[in-house]
Amino acid sequence: MILKEDTLSIIREQIKRILAHGENGAQPHSFGNGDAPLPAPSGFYARKLSGINPDDIRTRADFEALPFTDKDNLRDAYPLGLAVVPELDIVRIHSSSGTTGTPVIIPYTRRDVEDWAVMFRRCYEIAGVTPTDRVHITPGYGLWTAGIGFQAGAELLGAMVIPMGPGNTDKQLQFMRDLRSTVLCATSSYALLLAEEIEKRGMRGDIHLKKALIGSERWGEKMRRRIAAELGVSLYDIYGLTEVYGPGIGISCDAENGMHMFDDYLYCEIIDPKTGETVPDGTLGELVITTLRKEGAPLIRYRTHDLTRILAGDCACGCKYPRIDTILGRTDDMVKVKGVNIFPGQIDTFLKEVEGVSSEYQAMIDHFEGRDRFTLFFETERLDDERRLLEKEVARVAHARLGLTVMPKAVSIGELPRSEKKSTRVFDNRY
Ligand code: ZN
Repeated sequence: MILKEDTLSIIREQIKRILAHGENGAQPHSFGNGDAPLPAPSGFYARKLSGINPDDIRTRADFEALPFTDKDNLRDAYPLGLAVVPELDIVRIHSSSGTTGTPVIIPYTRRDVEDWAVMFRRCYEIAGVTPTDRVHITPGYGLWTAGIGFQAGAELLGAMVIPMGPGNTDKQLQFMRDLRSTVLCATSSYALLLAEEIEKRGMRGDIHLKKALIGSERWGEKMRRRIAAELGVSLYDIYGLTEVYGPGIGISCDAENGMHMFDDYLYCEIIDPKTGETVPDGTLGELVITTLRKEGAPLIRYRTHDLTRILAGDCACGCKYPRIDTILGRTDDMVKVKGVNIFPGQIDTFLKEVEGVSSEYQAMIDHFEGRDRFTLFFETERLDDERRLLEKEVARVAHARLGLTVMPKAVSIGELPRSEKKSTRVFDNRY
């Protein structure tokens, strides 16, 4: 993405604010009325950025020399160490759970809450939702950012919100029928469950959905087609993460070619997850986000660990916001072979191009005669000579798509172990 001069200036001001708060933020938050003061903020960001003179950040290279922020850093700031505003300015917190126990708490000011709703309203607008729509919201409410984000954006747009929250399928379907919901907001798995129930109960004729906004999960093309067909809706992918407002910071459009990201609120980079170097537009890597307007907890170069790329050029839909590609997976699953970064999602994608190859595969990486060797097992119904031809074709496409020489091995259908997780299909035996 282009790093404009005014974006750089916003980033400089933001860093100044972070550093200033670090100096002033040593006092415990107390309102002086006998309340129990919160512990002093840790000044986490000020420490991280100490020694940096914001006025020295003049070029893209200067910006790219700034340290990354990772989720572990945010965890260390528990509970409120991320705040760079006085407690009085914080109107809400959200929290994202971690696998390791300590939650991450993100403080929001009034303006942060408003900005998030403005971005979410844009998402609805890009999806063609209007004030005449009735928006049926099934993601959860509470510490989790999902439900309330969907709601605030729809209300700002002027649509009617039906704040269902998750679960209770009977009631979901009753309200969907009786209130004639036109827009469904859901995770992909819940949208599929609802589609199946509608089918099972023979309610297809009672449902008035036109669009579905699907958030926060990576999902396959097959599932997408099923949901679209069974619900009879157009689908839109909502992107977001709690650390950066929540869902609604980007969305796919009718051109179905990536997700538009709101570059007046966010600056996006793609980096090589192993080296940390920024890669050119169009190259796959990890999405790194810098917030440009966030007050409560601004983030500088936050590593999302989401695998995608920046799509160059204008979108066919006419929308001017820049795009990232659909999220292909987590960068934590990446392996480096012969100097080439490989992601499990890429193997899926290129195998789909080869006719006669099933979707099951297994990749083995080891050292052979001092060099990396990448063996790719895939299943096929073909036999003997046809298998050899298929292997040649897989090798050719792998080289064309990944720039990598692979050793393809065709096996019969059912020979490879089944796994839900893509990451368990790649075995790195080199270390
Ligand atoms: Zn578009």
